[in-house]
Order: sequence, then C-alpha cells, then structure tokens
Amino acid sequence: MGKILVVGACGYIGSIMAAQLFKAGYDLVLLDDLSTGFESSIVDVNLKLVIGDVGDRALLDLLFSTEKFHGVLHFASLIQVGESVLKPAQYYRSNVAKTLTLLEAMVEHDVGPLIFSSTAAVFGEPEYSPIDEAHRQAPINPYGASKFMIERMLEDFDRAYGLKSVALRYFNAAGADPEGRIGERHDPETHLIPLALHAVLGVRPPLKVFGRDYPTPDGTCVRDYIHVTDLAEAHLRALEYLWAGNPSARFNLGNGNGFSVQEVLDAVERVTGRPVPSEDAPRRAGDPANLVADSRAAKSVLGWNPQYADIDTIVAHAWAWEQKRVKLL
Ligand code: UDP
Repeated sequence: MGKILVVGACGYIGSIMAAQLFKAGYDLVLLDDLSTGFESSIVDVNLKLVIGDVGDRALLDLLFSTEKFHGVLHFASLIQVGESVLKPAQYYRSNVAKTLTLLEAMVEHDVGPLIFSSTAAVFGEPEYSPIDEAHRQAPINPYGASKFMIERMLEDFDRAYGLKSVALRYFNAAGADPEGRIGERHDPETHLIPLALHAVLGVRPPLKVFGRDYPTPDGTCVRDYIHVTDLAEAHLRALEYLWAGNPSARFNLGNGNGFSVQEVLDAVERVTGRPVPSEDAPRRAGDPANLVADSRAAKSVLGWNPQYADIDTIVAHAWAWEQKRVKLL
C-alpha cells in the first residue's frame, strides 16, 4: 500500500477522503494550513497532520525529502464564486500560484502522480447538457478560471516533465460521511443543502431562493448533486488508474441527474418532515441555469460506480450530520 499526501485534508471533501483512505489501510500524511478547514474534521486519531501552507516551498522540500510518497491528492482551494469576482488576486495567488509551487516541488523530488480537485466552473455557461469532457472550457469567473489554468498547467507539466495527473471536475459536492462523523462545514456557508437544513433547524434565516425565472422546468436552477463519499471514491479510482500506468486525464463527476433548487427543498422537507422556511430572492451573479455532468467516462474508464445517487439519501446524510454540527455553530 502506498503512502499518500492529502493537501487540504481538513476541508469538507479532503477530510472525508482522509477518513476513507485511512479505512482502506493507506499510509497518509495530511497537510492543511487551517485557513478554511478545521482540525477537528480529522476524525481518525493517529493520522499525521502537518499544519502548513501548500505554497511554502521549503515545507514541501522537507516533506518530499523525508517521506516517499506514491501519490498526492490536492484539495486545498478557495471555492467561492462570488468572492472570486471581488478578490481575484486571492484566487490566483491561493489556487494557481500555490499549486504551481506544489507541481514544481513534485517534479523536483520526482513525486507523483497527482489527483487534482477541479470543478464544473471550468466550463462556464454550458453549450449543451449533460456536460461531457469534450465540452469547450470557457470559465466565467476567476474561481473557474483559476481551476482552468491549473488544468492547463497539468497538461504542460505532463508533456514537459512527465508528471501524471487526473483532474476531477466536481459538480455539486453534497451529503456527508454515511457514519455521520464528518460533513460539510464552510465558514461562511454558501451552499444550498446546508443552508436549507439550517433554516429548518432555525439556526439561520429563511433560505433565499436565488431566482425563479430561469429557463428550467420550475424556474429554479438545476444542479447535479454528487455524494461526497462517491467523490472521494473517484479519487481512489483515479489514483489506481494512474498507478496502472494509464495516461493523464480529466473526468466530470456528477450523478447525471439534475435537481432544481425547488426539488432539493422538496427533498429536504421529505427527509426532515418539516417545511423549509424560504423566500424568493433575485438571481445570484454568475449562476448558470443548468449544470449537469455526463460522467460516463469516469464510470467506464475508472470503473467508478456511485453508491448514493438518490437525492433523498444525500439529504438524509447531510441532515444526520447537520443535527450534530449545529452544536458546533
Ligand atoms: N442557492 C439558493 N439559495 C442559497 C444558496 C444556493 O437558491 O442560499 C442556489 C444557487 O443559486 C444554485 C444552487 O442553489 O442554483 C446550488 O448552489 P450552491 O451554492 O450550493 O452550489 P454551486 O452551484 O454554486 O456550486
């Protein structure tokens, strides 16, 4: 079993990944600067957590010269679309420049391969749906652009230095560890499902529905919600794929099933048995009407098989976690 470096291990997806790899018996080193993640998201004691910045080249040199890694999973990122429009410098610095430092260090120390957390935002406004890997990439905000630039660097680093990588474009990561130990925890929270659950719990104001005038069946935006455990599983499959000597690649990860904001709120009501306090609000800047993944390539090439495609299951896992989490708010 190989030794894996998980960068951004204290965030939502990174922490679920760490728990899953730990369970599978991998030797792990976790790196996080705790700028947006939480140390308490590392639920398995005995895991080695290095608190530091992925943009710190001296730290990476130290890590890579003292441990022999068989792969790196890179989750560390700023992720808020709206914030990225207001503060692009932060996004290009944190996402692009720091990842460049990581890639340079990996090449220098002959470490690889890399699995990179990318996003549906690399596509911008979709030209067709569901979105496959051949869809043109035209990000419409600095967040999407930062991930797009990194994908481009990955291609160039492969060609020039032989660094193998898989970029995984997440659509809407959702849900929580089915055991209820870890789940979504952002500060500030901007995501639909946790905000709806918090509104139900009465710990936040009524949910604002951002736009009911989109060209979708019920007028609210359609997204592809993918269970975080299934996302984590795809990373492991991608690592195995590269370890088997396959070429670098990119895959879109979603359920292939779109759900509108209203359909998610209906699922929240079914799961919690309570109404979601909500009010209509104007559209949020930068929100495409419809983002749904075509994940057939990930399924056929990686052998990825999502287990929790049902929206009620996704919401039920998030609900179990949120009832615990509100005690942390
Ligand atoms: N949304 C909403 N109210 C909120 C948060 C989100 O109506 O308080 C909508 C948002 O406009 C989008 C969908 O829910 O259409 C999912 O948004 P989220 O922020 O969860 O994920 P994103 O699609 O931005 O990655």
